[in-house]
Amino acid sequence: MTVRKITEYPNDVLGKVGEPITKFDAELEALTADMFETMYDAEGVGLAAQQIGLSLRLFVMDCEDVKLVAANPEIVDTEGEQSGPEGCLSLGKVPAVLARAEKVRLRAQNLKGEWFEREAEGYAARCFLHETDHCNGKLFVEYLPKMRREMVIKRFKKEKKWG
Ligand SMILES: [Zn+2]
Repeated sequence: MTVRKITEYPNDVLGKVGEPITKFDAELEALTADMFETMYDAEGVGLAAQQIGLSLRLFVMDCEDVKLVAANPEIVDTEGEQSGPEGCLSLGKVPAVLARAEKVRLRAQNLKGEWFEREAEGYAARCFLHETDHCNGKLFVEYLPKMRREMVIKRFKKEKKWG
């Protein structure tokens, strides 16, 4: 297992819709092992392939009681609303308050290529949405009003400069 370099904003790969995963083999398993390692090293709760520079529809997460690999993820159902801080490893984890659905149902394929559905609430539901967005080339700051979006980016750049 290898800790990969995290792709940071701004980078083209973060804005591209990922390619579907079609091969469920040892290579994919090794890649997701690296993704977990990279995520734990950065003390994150989720990591999408885009964040290690790969334009693929793939993410890993370990958030509250939900630990999984999701290939070709899609959100099939959402319910309610929650408001809370959200951050992204590609933006130095600078937090911003963002409204998201409270309950989310995810559909994806596991490492064997089998389709599954999983429901989560609260923080784990937020993670489903955040990581699935990455696979679609979308960053959480895109939901923020312009001023708040610019504030997050400015703080990230400043911390990067001094960090
Ligand atoms: Zn992120």
